[in-house]
Amino acid sequence: MKKIQSFLLIVVLLFLPVMTFAQKGSFPEIKQLQSPQNPRLGFVIHGGAGVIRRGDLSPEKEKAYRAKLEEALLAGYRALQNGKTSLDAVQTAINILEDSPLFNAGKGAVFTADGKNELDASIMDGKTLMAGAVAGLHHIKNPITLARAVMEKSPHVMMVGDGAEKFAKEQNIELVDEKYFFTQPRWDSLQKILKEEKEKSKEVQSPKPKVQNLNNESRLLEMMTETQKLAENKFGTVGAVALDKDGNLAAGTSTGGMTNKKFGRVGDAPVIGAGTYADNKTCATSATGWGEYFIRLGVARDISALMEYRALPIQQAVDMEMNKVKTLGGDGGVIAIDRFGNIGISFNSEGMYRAYINSEGKPVVEIYKN
Ligand code: ASP
Repeated sequence: MKKIQSFLLIVVLLFLPVMTFAQKGSFPEIKQLQSPQNPRLGFVIHGGAGVIRRGDLSPEKEKAYRAKLEEALLAGYRALQNGKTSLDAVQTAINILEDSPLFNAGKGAVFTADGKNELDASIMDGKTLMAGAVAGLHHIKNPITLARAVMEKSPHVMMVGDGAEKFAKEQNIELVDEKYFFTQPRWDSLQKILKEEKEKSKEVQSPKPKVQNLNNESRLLEMMTETQKLAENKFGTVGAVALDKDGNLAAGTSTGGMTNKKFGRVGDAPVIGAGTYADNKTCATSATGWGEYFIRLGVARDISALMEYRALPIQQAVDMEMNKVKTLGGDGGVIAIDRFGNIGISFNSEGMYRAYINSEGKPVVEIYKN
């Protein structure tokens, strides 16, 4: 009898840890190292990735970009220092960038093929996994504000076009005349592309012998030039990721999309999991670049998954994901922050407007690759 009792005791002792682990789920619980007593704030923003080479910008223009990025960065960071949430910081910074004609979001949005401005945005709360997204807007001054209202004041995640604008009116969110979004440089970019397209179609109608006799290599070169042109037509999207004093993460992205995009085209910026994602367990990410590729790879959610399932550090996760984008033929970049305040920045374009608060609490603004 005594022998049976000791046997049973040994069995119970052996299986106890296994049973406890099984109750908690198949993954060990992640320790929450953040605590309100020892807060670590974190903030990163971007103003789009693209063909931005040293020397391309005039000194005045570069100064203007740097100043606006720093203004938005510090406004968001100050919000965090004043005890505001990561969502507040993200919205604050993006509102500032949306109001600037320098960036392809809000006021500085690019034009569609039919000469309109169509804006998209999204925001996500890493604590609750709640998210809000809007697309195809023509009259909303600050699309990120409407995205947040969709998240907080509606039962939905995504609203588009006229319906989204109707909801904005109900929520007393500022609408503006379409003319508000007109900026000469963006208009000129569209006209330039339309002119090039027209010339190209004329060439197709009466092809020059030179074009007819293209060998494989020249054809490849032509295709590469086309790709390069597409890549040049889109940058300036804005985004922000933040970690607040309570250890909560948030991400947001706002854009006018791509110059000469077809009416109704929606990119990655308002697609949760592609252009924007936040999860307190892993990280918050905002993307910019050739949206179609970011949608196909589910970039922002994939970065979170790389950290969750493969325990990759944030910089490795963003680099690995941007490699996938490159392999597929896309370009752009991402900013990300994890729940400890570690930052990950990666891009495969010539440059990316970006700014962050470094580990000493100082603002850093960068534009070029090196
Ligand atoms: N990702 C945006 C889009 O495809 C464009 C950009 O980030 O420049 O709409």
